[in-house]
Amino acid sequence: MSSHTLRRPAELVDAGLAPSEHLAALERVAERYAVAVTPAMAALIDVADPHDPIARQFVPDPAELDVQPDEAADPIGDDAHSPVDGIVHRYPDRVLLKPVHVCAVYCRFCFRREMIGPGKPNALSKDSLAAALAYIGAHREIWEVILSGGDPLVLSPRRLAAVMKRLGAIEHVRIVRVHTRVPAVDPGRITPALVRALKGSGKTTYVVLHANHARELTCAARAACARIIDAGMPMLAQSVLLKGVNDDADTLGALMRAFVECRIKPYYLHHLDRAPGTAHFRTTMARGQELMRALRTRYSGLCQPAYVMDGPDGEGKVPVGLG
Ligand code: SF4
Repeated sequence: MSSHTLRRPAELVDAGLAPSEHLAALERVAERYAVAVTPAMAALIDVADPHDPIARQFVPDPAELDVQPDEAADPIGDDAHSPVDGIVHRYPDRVLLKPVHVCAVYCRFCFRREMIGPGKPNALSKDSLAAALAYIGAHREIWEVILSGGDPLVLSPRRLAAVMKRLGAIEHVRIVRVHTRVPAVDPGRITPALVRALKGSGKTTYVVLHANHARELTCAARAACARIIDAGMPMLAQSVLLKGVNDDADTLGALMRAFVECRIKPYYLHHLDRAPGTAHFRTTMARGQELMRALRTRYSGLCQPAYVMDGPDGEGKVPVGLG
C-alpha cells in the first residue's frame, strides 16, 4: 500500500490502479483537472475489478476528455452569487465560505473541478479572507456559514481554529456547517487538535460528510466520525448519485445504513451536476426517482436522504422527489 497520496498518472499506473495504455490520455486529463488518491482510498481499491466503485470515483479516466455541449465550467451558477472572493450568497440566511481550493482527494465528477486544482490558488489570500469575513459580519441576515471548498478539513488545526475563532466573533452567525470528505478519505487527519479547532467558533457546528459508497466507511473512517460526534458536533451525509458507483438500490441502501450506523443522518442525495467531462457518471432523473422509491419501500425512515438537483441558473437546490 502506498504511504503517500498518489498525484501523477505514472504513480497510478505503477500502483496498478490504472492501465499503462491509458497513461498518455491520463496525462492530458491531469493537465486540466487535479488528481489525488489518498493511501486510505488506494488501499480500498480492488485492482482486479475493472469496475471498482472506489477507483471509479478517484482514479482519472480518459472519458473525462469528452466534454459535452450541455456541460459547463460553473454548472450550479456559483459565480453569479459571489459578491466577494470566497463567498457564495445564494439564499438570504446562509453563505458558503470557501477558505481553500484544495482537497484531500479529487473526485472525478466534482462540480467545482474547474475552480480547484492545477493553476488555481491553494487558498484565499489573507486579504480576501478578511474581506469575506467582513462581508459576513456586515450582513446581519446571515444565520449560517457553510465552510466548503475545496475541503476545509485539509487546513491545519491552527489555520482552521483561526477561521473558526473569527466566525465565533460574529454575533448573528449561529450555525457553522463544514462540508468535507476528509473523515472518510484521510481519517488520520481527524486528530484531537483538529476536532478542537472545528469546535473553535463556539457556535453550533454540524459536519457534513460526503461519501458515495459504504466501503468508504472503513473502521478508521468510522472512528474519525465518532471523534467528531463524541465532541458534540452532529454529522449529516451528502452523496452524489453516480453511474457505476451507487446507482442500484442495494448499494445505495447499504450506504445509507452505514451512515446511520455511524450516527450520521443522510441529508442530501445529489443528482449529478453537469460539470465538464462527467457524462460517464450520469444517470437519468427517472432512475434516481426509481431508486428513491426503492429506498422508501425497503429501508428505515432514518435512511432517507432528500434527492435534489442544482440548476445551472444558480437559483439553488430543487427537490426532485420520488416522481
Ligand atoms: S472533495 Fe468535494 S470539492 Fe473536492 S474534488 Fe471532491 S467533490 Fe470536489
